[in-house]
Amino acid sequence: FYAPPKQVYDSHIELSGQEAKHATKVLRYREGDTINIVDGTGGWYDCTIAQVAGSIVKATIEHAKQISSPTPEIVLAMGIIKKRDRLEFAVEKSVELGVKEIVLFRSRHTIKENIRIDRLEMTALSAMKQSLRAHLPEITILDNVESVLDTYFDHQVLVAHEKAEAKSGISIEQRKKNKTMLLVGPEGGFSEKEIRMTIDKGGQVISLGKNRLRAETAAVVFLSQFI
Ligand code: SAM
Repeated sequence: FYAPPKQVYDSHIELSGQEAKHATKVLRYREGDTINIVDGTGGWYDCTIAQVAGSIVKATIEHAKQISSPTPEIVLAMGIIKKRDRLEFAVEKSVELGVKEIVLFRSRHTIKENIRIDRLEMTALSAMKQSLRAHLPEITILDNVESVLDTYFDHQVLVAHEKAEAKSGISIEQRKKNKTMLLVGPEGGFSEKEIRMTIDKGGQVISLGKNRLRAETAAVVFLSQFI
């Protein structure tokens, strides 16, 4: 289960909202049952349910540990794609694979501008729990490729570009960097101007093979090379 840090006290944790409902109404947990709770920032707690009071579940902490964040730190920056289920797929799989943050950006070839970030956050939350991770990646939206590059100026930037030479895969040195941002374009791809700007700001263009992949597939293939 998930409880944000503000609901974690010295000796107990409170589950509320959907988490409490899921525990009591769907899974039918009761006082005395044991559960695991994560706080999204690395805190992992083995707990016993002490009280179910209305829509709040109070759980006593039996054992607490801090899980270190996945290394290297990977930020996935992905152009907003039109189909909601495909974007959700990309978010779900990248959380399962241990991404640190997800940035969705608008770009020259973005078709859809507005997205429901709350739904994507739910997807990320459920992927974190499903994959037994304790870190909940933040999801942010930025207005263009330039803002993405400026925000993550201290990261190694690798940009997946289908027009890159097929042999320019990811090197061992690139895999070893502590902080990397992976840029994946939307369904319409990057404009030449966006690619040029990325290279001018120190980014490196990477091929994921000679075939054209859907953006969400490219994100998963790209990320899987860092786990
Ligand atoms: N027509 C678009 C174009 O010309 O770029 C296709 C875009 S593709 C469906 C969406 C994104 O996935 C691309 O911008 C790129 O980031 C990534 N991608 C897809 N296939 C790739 C490949 N073989 N190598 C590297 N990146 C790829």
